[in-house]
Amino acid sequence: MRSEEQDVRLERFQALCREQGLSRTVHRRVILQAVLEREDHPTADQVYEAVKGRLPGVSRTTVYRVLDTLVRLGVVAKVCHPGPAARFDPKIDQHHHLVCLRCARIVDVEDERLNAIVLPLLDTVGFEISEFHIHLRGVCPACRRNRTKAGRQTSAARRRRKTDGPAKPSATKSSPKKRRIKA
Ligand SMILES: [Zn+2]
Ligand SMILES: [Zn+2]
Repeated sequence: MRSEEQDVRLERFQALCREQGLSRTVHRRVILQAVLEREDHPTADQVYEAVKGRLPGVSRTTVYRVLDTLVRLGVVAKVCHPGPAARFDPKIDQHHHLVCLRCARIVDVEDERLNAIVLPLLDTVGFEISEFHIHLRGVCPACRRNRTKAGRQTSAARRRRKTDGPAKPSATKSSPKKRRIKA
């Protein structure tokens, strides 16, 4: 998030604290800023790593607790996703996510068509939808590149094995036979 945008958000947060009679602790401000600075949807541990230098003596538990307060106040969003650790999002307007199933990277997607999808009628189950976010799951560019590289390496290795001469291929061919005999 751009720094001017961060300033607006921090000011809005201060106003909210005044309104709600909350003491605006340095911890809350620094932790909020740490989330606003990032676009990678950090975990609480990553936020802790980012702020521990700025807040000497701050504990992991405090960071967790403050993040929960920021989510409750609606100034930070918690991303619902299939990964094990909660992820925090500075973007509180409706948007969607690309979730990498290999490295757990989460990238924002804004698309009016996704915001306008027709939701199912849930009157019969009595469920009232208040918001929705779409997660598109797959493989991110970095992981795809790694996969292609790994693929190239294996095929290169295969090619190398093929040119090794007749002894090795026949050895590999004989091993399944041996297994079959044992079984
Ligand atoms: Zn990835
Ligand atoms: Zn997001």
